[in-house]
Amino acid sequence: MIDFRLTETDRAHLEKTRAEGVICREYAREFDENEDEMIPDVLPEAQAFFGDYPELPEVGKEDTQGPVMLLLQCMAQHWGDYSVRLRRSMRGGLGNAALAAAGTDEQKAKWGELLLSMAITEPGCGSDPSRVSTSAVLDKGTDEWVINGEKIFVTTGIRAEGVVMWATIDKSAGRAGIKSFLVEKGTPGFDVPHKEKKLGIRADDTAAYVFSDCRVPRGNLLGLDETIPKSSSGGFRGVMKTFNMTRPLTAAMGLGIAEAALDFTRDELEEAGVVLDYSRGPGGLGRLSAAAAHFMRLEALFSASRLTTLQCGWMAGEGMPNNLESSVSKAHAGSAVREITQGCIEILGSVGASRELLLEKWMRDSRITDIYEGTGEIQRLIIARGLLDYTRADLK
Ligand SMILES: Cc1cc2nc3c(=O)[nH]c(=O)nc-3n(C[C@H](O)[C@H](O)[C@H](O)COP(=O)(O)OP(=O)(O)OC[C@H]3O[C@@H](n4cnc5c(N)ncnc54)[C@H](O)[C@@H]3O)c2cc1C
Repeated sequence: MIDFRLTETDRAHLEKTRAEGVICREYAREFDENEDEMIPDVLPEAQAFFGDYPELPEVGKEDTQGPVMLLLQCMAQHWGDYSVRLRRSMRGGLGNAALAAAGTDEQKAKWGELLLSMAITEPGCGSDPSRVSTSAVLDKGTDEWVINGEKIFVTTGIRAEGVVMWATIDKSAGRAGIKSFLVEKGTPGFDVPHKEKKLGIRADDTAAYVFSDCRVPRGNLLGLDETIPKSSSGGFRGVMKTFNMTRPLTAAMGLGIAEAALDFTRDELEEAGVVLDYSRGPGGLGRLSAAAAHFMRLEALFSASRLTTLQCGWMAGEGMPNNLESSVSKAHAGSAVREITQGCIEILGSVGASRELLLEKWMRDSRITDIYEGTGEIQRLIIARGLLDYTRADLK
């Protein structure tokens, strides 16, 4: 049986994460409005906070653990502030996950301690990675890869000490020719021309990268496999049977913001004397004020998305393939957090739009949920392929 009820111990642990999130909120507006300035990663108050916080109860077997707790913690962290959280807690970037998944033991030992970004997207390639045009050509004389191309919107692109980047070793082979390479900052020919200016999550340093005749040793190809498989499409259904936590985690990040927006709006409504009466049952919404009815619909949307996301974690914890459900959670959350944050602004009117408060920023920050880790449209394609048993070629 799936049971997502929280124990007292669960609540105590999540409460601590939320309390830390409140510290991030103190910095949220400053980071948002000073996008170009790099502010130190570790917030001074956070250091003191961890030292002073009362000891937490020990986690027992009746408490929530594993991937479900990871998702709940992620929601609680981002409830504080999405992008300040991204800035101050960065112990590993997306590239570290790629290194862990594809690197050899030797490569993991060599680069595992570096903060690594992940660069796939290019000016002409986003949703469809087979369009990667950055090239890596092997110079057999020196045993080096020579990399040329441009990457954009690289998360943590400034602070990262290196990058796992995708390049094609044979453009005519399509997806099969694409390989991952590790390039350390400071390598000649690897430049960071600018930081991207963004709608939201401005505290996060998103950057553009340029590679011009950038030479890396042959051993920087992750996994060291230089062969080009005859057909890559056959592997797709295999991938569909694996676990996925990155999409539910992206969903959870957005849901953390949505919950912050709901909590804030609930307080404002209560202060204004708007009654949220949950006892009226189905059909009872019509007897509530329009604001209350709207708000309660947003709460229901949040619950649906939260449960869908936790289900993915539960499946991963049980060893059940969850690829399809992961796309459902990401697609659902991507549109739900947009509707929730915009709905809260609509309910509160000018208060919601004011830069004195964080609600308008949360609306901007939450927009990313439906963009990176695959847009909503791409998730829907994955869902349709999974349900209909279509290949990538059948349905694109
Ligand atoms: C803040 C931020 C951080 C990012 N961080 C990273 C990072 O660290 N590393 C990285 O590599 N990338 C990163 N990205 C890039 C992100 O992954 C891409 O923006 C995303 O994959 C979409 O690609 P695109 O922008 O090229 O849009 P496109 O692929 O050009 O898509 C444009 C629109 O068309 C839709 N579309 C595309 N193909 C289809 C289709 N087949 N069917 C239906 N609709 C379709 C898309 O959903 C979208 O709405 C980041 C982006 C942002 C904004």
